[in-house]
Order: sequence, then structure tokens, then C-alpha cells
Amino acid sequence: MTQIDKTKPVLVTGATGYVAGWLVKRLLDEGITVHAAVRNPENNEKLVYLNELAVDAPGKIKYFKSDLLQPGSYAQAMEGCELVFHTASPFALDVNDPVKDLIEPAQLGTRNVLEQANNTPSVKRVVVTSSCAAIFGDNADLKNTPNHIFTEEIWNTSSTAKHGAYSYSKTLAEKEAWEIHNKQSRWDLITINPSLVLGPAINPLDNTSESFRIIKQFGDGTFKTGVPKLGFGVVDVRDLAFAHYQAGFVPEAKGRHIISGHNTFFLNMAQTLQPKYGDKYPIPKKELPKWLLWLVGPILNKALTRKFICRNVSYPWIGDNSKSKTALGIRYRPLEETMNDTFQQLIDNKIL
Ligand code: NAP
Repeated sequence: MTQIDKTKPVLVTGATGYVAGWLVKRLLDEGITVHAAVRNPENNEKLVYLNELAVDAPGKIKYFKSDLLQPGSYAQAMEGCELVFHTASPFALDVNDPVKDLIEPAQLGTRNVLEQANNTPSVKRVVVTSSCAAIFGDNADLKNTPNHIFTEEIWNTSSTAKHGAYSYSKTLAEKEAWEIHNKQSRWDLITINPSLVLGPAINPLDNTSESFRIIKQFGDGTFKTGVPKLGFGVVDVRDLAFAHYQAGFVPEAKGRHIISGHNTFFLNMAQTLQPKYGDKYPIPKKELPKWLLWLVGPILNKALTRKFICRNVSYPWIGDNSKSKTALGIRYRPLEETMNDTFQQLIDNKIL
């Protein structure tokens, strides 16, 4: 049981990110002082949105310059904190150098932040934003799970630097986190393992997260002839922020948590947009045959390799979110709300 003192500052790494934005809002609304660790605390337009959150909230925000790849660079930001949220990690599927662009920042960054927790006597709990990508690599992995469902007991064993590099980076990072945690007993580790995160962003204009590219493609014509038959877990970014908050402050919280509201398919996601946007935007209406994807996929998008298509297309994604409901008290909002709010934000900001 770990009781966190809400009068002490709370560190959020990667505070400028999509997922972190709503968490920072929640912390500020609860009157907490947020130590926001960011790569660039000066002249950073991303901070405008965070500053706006702090204006009307009882909490305060303070910025610290930190980089995942610079040892010791989280020391100042962590000083005096009992609770650390480590969200920073690049989320991209199409990168030039998987080791430099994904694996090193994820794994070495987690080591850097958690070793700093070892060196900071005030720290009692660390919440790491891992991913369902640390649980599964390909949808085909579902066949080898007990009861054909992804649970917190399962680890991704199918991703490599060459196949599913982002998932591999998240798996290595979470393993690193548990290894460092298990060698000490002062702070406890909770991991949050979200599926695909969607929903409106605190900072809608400057977004590096892969989440937006996917929804944009539902409206920009990329999928007008059809979508791959791909199963997904989806969670709303606002529900995910609450999950992080609960993981930080529920004294009994323990271990890994799948945070995923819906087991769905690309086509079902698109169908939630039809009633409101179907007349004006080329929202996909059907699924593409697997053989066609196998032929043209790698030409259209280098992340769509033949191996990816073989091991993911036409497979469902089924995750067990029951622990998140019982242990953290999460109630998931409907998929329609998440999809429509995200799409509308892209329209409002002229991205669509
Ligand atoms: P995002 O908006 O791109 O945020 C990534 C954050 O990491 C940014 O704040 C970025 O800082 C920071 N970062 C990247 N490289 C860094 C470095 N070398 N040093 C310091 N900070 C660095 O992506 P996101 O979707 O919010 O992802 C946040 C977390 O959620 C990640 O751990 C991701 O793996 C996890 N997650 C996301 C999803 C999803 O669907 N979005 C699903 C499961 C898990 P800058 O602003 O300086 O670039």
C-alpha cells in the first residue's frame, strides 16, 4: 500500500505528448504541482496549451529541461517528488532507423528515468506508460494465448527490431522497468498498457503521435476504396488519463494494467463516423481483400510489410480490460464518442 502526498510535486516525463496532456490537466485540476519534464522548455509552442490549462486550475506547472538519452537529466525535475509518471517515448511506425529512433529512447530512456528514481529518496511510486504492444506483437499471437485473449500475464515475444520495431521498443522498455524495480524496495512500479489511443488532443496542432495519422486517413481519402480488415483495441485518451491518475493514487494499485475500452476493427471504427460525416468525407465503407493488400501494401506504405499483413490482417484483437475496471475503477466511454470527437477536432483545426 503506497499513500502519495498530494501536496508534493508530481513528475510527468514527456509532458508535451498527446497522452500526457490530459494527465497534466487532471493533476492541475486536482490542485497538484506538476513538474513537467520536456526537451525544450523555452520557445516551445507546445507549452502554450499546457500553460493555458494551468491558468484556471488550482495546481501549478513548472518546466524542467530533460532528455531521455541524457543520463541525470531528470534529477532536478524529480527532486521532492513522491510520484513519477514516465510517459515519454517516441510513438511512430514509419521510421528510418528503428534502433536510434525508437528502441534507444524507449529502453535507455526508461533506464535513465528509473535509475534517477533510485537516486531520489522522495520517490515512492513510478507509473510507466507501457503499451499493449508489450503484450502482443501481431494479432496472430492471439492464437497462442490461453483462452484466446490478451491478458496482463502475457508478453510480446514476436516483435524484433526488423518486425514491429515500435512494439519491440515498448517490450524492451517495460522489461527494463521491471528489472530495475525488482532490485529495490523503496518505490513500487505500476505499468499502464494502453491499446491504440484515440480522442481529442490538448494540443491539436502540433502532434507527433501516430494516433492522429490513422484517424486523418479515414477522412482524407487514403482509405476511400476500403480499409484493411485489421482488429484493434481502442481507448479514449481521456479515459487513459484517468487510468494513469488512478494508478498513481490508488494505494493498492499493483502490476500491469491493460487499458482498452473496445475490441474492434478498422471498419467498425469508420462506421461510427458515417452518420455525421459520411456525406462530406470519403469515410471507408468496406474492407479490402487480404490478397490485394498483400500485393500492393508494401508499395503504399513501408510499415505494411508482407509479414505484417500475413500475421495481422483478418485477425481480431481481443484484450481483457477487467483488471482496469476492478483495480482502477475505469469506466470506458463509447467508441462513437471517441471517434467523433477526434474527427471533429481535425476538422475544426483544418487538418481535414
Ligand atoms: P507523443 O504525442 O509523440 O508523445 C511522445 C512524448 O515523448 C513527447 O512528449 C516527446 O517530447 C517525448 N519524447 C520523445 N523522445 C524524447 C526524448 N529523446 N527525450 C525526451 N522526451 C522525448 O506520443 P503519445 O501517443 O502521447 O505517446 C506517449 C506514451 O504513450 C508513449 O510511451 C507511447 O509509447 C505510449 N502509448 C501510446 C499509444 C497511442 O496510441 N498513442 C498507445 C499505447 C502506448 P517532444 O514534445 O519534445 O517531442
